[in-house]
Amino acid sequence: MGLESKLPNGVLLTNLEKFVNYGRSTSMWPATFGLACCAIEMMSAGGPRHDMARFGMEVFRASPRQADLMIVAGRLSNKMAPVLRRIYDQMSDPKWVISMGVCATSGGMFNNYALVQGVDHVVPVDMYVPGCPPRPEMLMDGILKLHAKVRGEQFADKAARS
Ligand code: SF4
Repeated sequence: MGLESKLPNGVLLTNLEKFVNYGRSTSMWPATFGLACCAIEMMSAGGPRHDMARFGMEVFRASPRQADLMIVAGRLSNKMAPVLRRIYDQMSDPKWVISMGVCATSGGMFNNYALVQGVDHVVPVDMYVPGCPPRPEMLMDGILKLHAKVRGEQFADKAARS
């Protein structure tokens, strides 16, 4: 419409949804939560070599009430499933879940009675990261793809899903 040329410098036009989603995607705080070997790669992603701080998310919160991202890093046992669900329920809304590694996503090689065959039976998963274990670069890729997904979310859809 040619409106941009009439605006003074420093003025941006956007809508509330895009503005809020930008803030959400660039300030995710993960819960301190690891289940098995994949968690070592997740910890490495937070270290200086990979440096998750570049994306506004270096703060792994010790309390789920201060976290809005759950990275399920490793296999989930049936015994642990209610605990995982409780932590998810205690996290602040809106919140997101990454399933990291084949064990979290599908049970992986552990096709037995003791393990949940996919954490999406317990919590809604937003992004799946393949591998056994996924390297920190793969986790970072999954996180960046989640950021892009969050920027395109609509408030009503997100609220209905939670
Ligand atoms: S996917 Fe591989 S590295 Fe990750 S928890 Fe399972 S066995 Fe361990």
